[in-house]
Amino acid sequence: MNLASALRSAAADRLYPAVILHGGTEEARRQAAVDLARTLLCIHALSRPCAQGGEVCRNCRRICWPGETDLFHPDFAVLERNLKTSTSVAATRELLKRAQLSPFEARGQVFIIANAETLTGEAANSLLKILEEPPDSAPRNFMLLAPSSHDLLPTLRSRSMAIFLGAAEEIDREATARIGQQFAERVTGYAATGAAVYLLSAAEALEAAGDFKDPRSGRPWATAAAAVVHAIETEAVPPVVRRRLLGLAQALLGAPAMRLRAVGAQRILEGLVCRHLTAPRSQAV
Ligand SMILES: [Zn+2]
Repeated sequence: MNLASALRSAAADRLYPAVILHGGTEEARRQAAVDLARTLLCIHALSRPCAQGGEVCRNCRRICWPGETDLFHPDFAVLERNLKTSTSVAATRELLKRAQLSPFEARGQVFIIANAETLTGEAANSLLKILEEPPDSAPRNFMLLAPSSHDLLPTLRSRSMAIFLGAAEEIDREATARIGQQFAERVTGYAATGAAVYLLSAAEALEAAGDFKDPRSGRPWATAAAAVVHAIETEAVPPVVRRRLLGLAQALLGAPAMRLRAVGAQRILEGLVCRHLTAPRSQAV
C-alpha cells in the first residue's frame, strides 16, 4: 500500500489498526506518521486533516513530532529509542499502558514507535498482545516506523499493513542499466545451460551495485534490486525467469536486515540469486 491510499483509508476511518511505515528517509517516515495521525484524529468530518490550510483544528495543531514544538496532544504518543540502544521493554510497556485507557479528547488514540527495528523481542511481544486484543469502543492505531519492514519480527509484520514510502535515496540510473544488462546476460546463460557457474557470476554482477560495507546502508541493495528489475525488462530473459526475478528484487530490498546479523554481502547475494533462480524440477527454468 502507498501513503496516498493509506491517507484515504484513514480519512474514511478504515485504516488498519497497525501499520508499518517503511522505506523513504527517517524524516519522510516521521512526516507520514504525523499526517496519518492528524487524518485519524482531526475533528472535522470531511476533508481530513484540516492542517493543509485555513482554520486548523485543535487536534491537528497539537499533533506534532515531540521536540519539534512544545505542543502536545494527550491521545498521540511517540516512543523513540534512547541513543544507540534498543527500544526497551519498560518504555514500550509504559506506552502500551496508555492504550488501556480511553482517549482523553479525540475520537481515538495514535501510538507511534519511531524505531520499530530496535524493538526487543519482549517489547515486540507486549505490543503483539495489544494488537491481538479485540478493539474497544475507541479506535487505537499503532504505527511502526522502520527503514524496511523486513527489519521487524515476522509476527509483527503479519499483524500489520505495510505502507511503503519509496526508495530512500536517488538511484544511479546509468549504473543500474549497466549492471542490469550484465546480470541479464548471465541469467540468460543459466536459463539456456542450467550451469550453476552462471548463477555465481550473476551474483557477482550485482556486487558492483555499490559499497556494501556499511551494514546500515540500504543504497547498494536498492541499486541491485533496480538492476534486477532492469533485467526483467530485457527481452532475452525468458518469461519464466522474469517472474522469479521479481521475487529476487523484493528480497534484495530486505537484505540489509540480514547484514545486521553479520552475514557478508557476497554470501547474501549468492544465496538470494541461487534461491530465487533454482527451483524444484517441476518448475525448472
Ligand atoms: Zn484537523
